[in-house]
Amino acid sequence: MSEEANPFESLQSQVDDAAEYLDVGDDVIERLKHPERVLETNLTVELDDGSLERFTAFRSQFNGDRGPYKGGIRYHPNVTRDEVTALSGWMVYKCAVVDIPFGGGKGGIVVDPTEYSDSEIERLTRAFAKELRPFIGEDKDIPAPDVNTGQREMNWIKDTYETLENTTEPGVITGKALDSGGSEGRVEATGRSTIIAAREAFDYLGRDLSDATVAIQGYGNAGWIAAKLVEDRGADVVAVSDSSGAIYNADGFDARDVKAFKNETGTVSGYSEANEEFTNEELLTLDVDLLIPAALENAIDADLAEDVSADVISEAANGPLTPAADEVLATEDVLIIPDILANAGGVTVSYFEWVQNRQRFYWSEEKVNEELEGIIVDGFDALTDAYEKHDLETLRQAAYIVAIQRVVDSFEEAGSFP
Ligand code: GLU
Repeated sequence: MSEEANPFESLQSQVDDAAEYLDVGDDVIERLKHPERVLETNLTVELDDGSLERFTAFRSQFNGDRGPYKGGIRYHPNVTRDEVTALSGWMVYKCAVVDIPFGGGKGGIVVDPTEYSDSEIERLTRAFAKELRPFIGEDKDIPAPDVNTGQREMNWIKDTYETLENTTEPGVITGKALDSGGSEGRVEATGRSTIIAAREAFDYLGRDLSDATVAIQGYGNAGWIAAKLVEDRGADVVAVSDSSGAIYNADGFDARDVKAFKNETGTVSGYSEANEEFTNEELLTLDVDLLIPAALENAIDADLAEDVSADVISEAANGPLTPAADEVLATEDVLIIPDILANAGGVTVSYFEWVQNRQRFYWSEEKVNEELEGIIVDGFDALTDAYEKHDLETLRQAAYIVAIQRVVDSFEEAGSFP
């Protein structure tokens, strides 16, 4: 494995790459490569045995030209300032690609949540919410779930914020449980957009997703929902994985049954219907029609990219391909749907949740899914238009061109405040 790419440098090179096609000055581009601000904080939390532990946490507010900062909070031992900053930048361009009125933010706590009890995680989450309180709000910065966080953590953050502010403001955070002001369809939204975008890509290539073989790296919220939805369309999910390794069955898995097995045992490894077990790297190089990386950044580097054999890649994870991997794959016959469109369903339904919170008027799941479908299809069309117009090598370049232009337009229309 070659040296790990720094995600913040990856983001900057993606912006530079797209900037070459835009009539935008270097001074403005420079602004789009750096966060407006990053909060770094140390949280001291009481553990169940009465001792104290310090945790480092970050919240990056990358760019607010198009609206309040928006993006998730992850709990992971490998969280770094650069990672959170990159992820907050990707949120800016993600929200711009799907044309929703948000800027980009991201947060993270350096923690392995599996090593702590539920009550310790609750105290940690509330301690972070207390630190975040002055910086967040439904018109300022709206956090959401990300890796290893979900409805439970969002409900705690909402409660802490509302208690300290002595108000009712459900739109301060999205990804909440339904009874706490969440939206129908939010849990499934990331995996759903990954599959809608894949379907559009197959149509674009004159092929049918329902005939495809599919490999999915990661069986968390995004990966497993993508597996379920693509299977429901008739495709064969021949390989799935999690951090324990990958499982394979040439006839395709029953996604719901694999999920039930993982819920019971904690891993996909050992699932009885698997004919073969191998590594995550082997899964990523399988000769399948559709590959869905749904785990973490840098899953495919330049070395591994040489062996990638899929025809279409739909990026459910954020930043799963390094820029060097992108360069390798640009010369191959593979269509890559970039993360900032493929996984934009999550933030898009977060936007719907925020709209519903503000109106105190809630939508049916059918309406949520219908609106999401329209937004992802429009996003895909905007990308292919730019791809053809500029005769680009990748849809990623197209996505950044579309997104950067939209951010620059709002920045320039606003003029500058001294
Ligand atoms: N964490 C998700 C993402 O990376 C969702 C963000 C949100 O809903 O604000 O897109």
